[in-house]
Amino acid sequence: MRKSEQPYLFHGMTISICPECMASIPGKIIIKNNSIYLIKQCNLHGEFECLLEENAEWYLKRKEYNKPGTESKIQTSINKGCPLDCGLCPDHDQHTCIGLLEITKNCDLNCPICYAGSKNDVSFMKMEQIKKMMDFFQDAEAGNAEIIQISGGEPSTHPDIIEIIETARNKGFKYVMLNTNGLRIASDRAFVKELSRFETGFEVYLQFDGFEKETYLHFRNQDLTSIKQKAVENLVKHGVPVTLVSTIEKGINEHEIGSIIDFGLKTPCIRGINFQPVAYFGRRDKNTKLPPSNRITITGILQKIEDQSDGIIKFNDFVPLPCNVDSIAVAYMFKENGVFVPISRNIKLSSYLPVIDNTFYMDAEELTKNLNDCQSDKICKCGSFLKNIQRFLPANYIIKSIKEQKTFIDENTFRISVTMFQDLYNFEMHAMKKECVHVITDDFKRIPFSAYNMIHRNKYHEN
Ligand code: SF4
Ligand code: SF4
Repeated sequence: MRKSEQPYLFHGMTISICPECMASIPGKIIIKNNSIYLIKQCNLHGEFECLLEENAEWYLKRKEYNKPGTESKIQTSINKGCPLDCGLCPDHDQHTCIGLLEITKNCDLNCPICYAGSKNDVSFMKMEQIKKMMDFFQDAEAGNAEIIQISGGEPSTHPDIIEIIETARNKGFKYVMLNTNGLRIASDRAFVKELSRFETGFEVYLQFDGFEKETYLHFRNQDLTSIKQKAVENLVKHGVPVTLVSTIEKGINEHEIGSIIDFGLKTPCIRGINFQPVAYFGRRDKNTKLPPSNRITITGILQKIEDQSDGIIKFNDFVPLPCNVDSIAVAYMFKENGVFVPISRNIKLSSYLPVIDNTFYMDAEELTKNLNDCQSDKICKCGSFLKNIQRFLPANYIIKSIKEQKTFIDENTFRISVTMFQDLYNFEMHAMKKECVHVITDDFKRIPFSAYNMIHRNKYHEN
């Protein structure tokens, strides 16, 4: 990062942090060459400039989609300022959409980009503690906690992993995700078979960075191409729903985005893909070679999606996720006449914000119910949207059995999202306060994922 030398347009001020000493410092948001940058000045460490978003138009328009946050209980007070007061502190503006439970620091990989700094470290959280943390998460969300992601380290190395998933389901989470590198899934068919009994409300969130050996050597330090294929093959064989999660880095695997989408759309059981621009924290920050001003952003990935997907999905099919417009873009697709079609194509989704829940998961049934409720409350434009959604659903969808509905959704819906996290370089306080992916800690706090990895993780790793 270096001082900005070209002419720019001032857009606004924010609060950021110094990437060297982590002091809270003011930041200036500017528009330059149709992109958005953050310039910040630390008295001790000088000026820093970081690319926030490659497409200025998207950045400026995303406010149209912004919805007020959902209320949630607080655990801490305002004292030193954001992001030191996590959390959640009274200043945080969004509830926990996804709660991450890191049940082990152990991992069978040692990735150079690991935000958790995980490696072989055979220490596993006790079942009793896990249950308490699940109860805390439910209580913090007034018993309506939505998504719990079982994470690590590599959670499938935990000896009680099946019991942990089972427990999460029994504790009423709407959705349980297993965040895994897929090594055990590729090699242990009996384990995959066990996962297949969680018929609904469960999915594997599978690390999947592409198809090329060089990609895996860069991100994971070893060639995992055949292991990833084997993992998907085993999940398909046992009918386990999957979301692929692909880390994308400029100059490394951005050219593989189209192939990942093509693979996802063609493979049964793959319900969606989440692309994540690489974040500069954990081991990745220590190993930084490219300056973060050259990073790929949400809109950089959206443009690659359009360029590499043969017109199936376009930049404008994506919308900022209304509960977190700064950090997530999403496109939902339904199958029509055998082809996936983005539901937002030719629809201005910002007109239908009242019926879109503050959640990452938009479920066809939930959305139809919200649309019906909305229509009964007042005359609004939602009727046309309802028709648009309903045209993708069979007439008898509501009376189908849960298993039939699951099969229909598995075969006919697809979700592509791009999630960008904050790090010491692109930290922007307004975006931070809306973050909805929170780590549930063993001392019963909820710490937004970015703040946890930037600042707080070290404290918990010392324990
Ligand atoms: S990130 Fe959220 S919870 Fe943490 S200090 Fe900032 S506002 Fe508070
Ligand atoms: S990134 Fe995931 S798979 Fe890689 S070392 Fe970290 S926890 Fe393990």
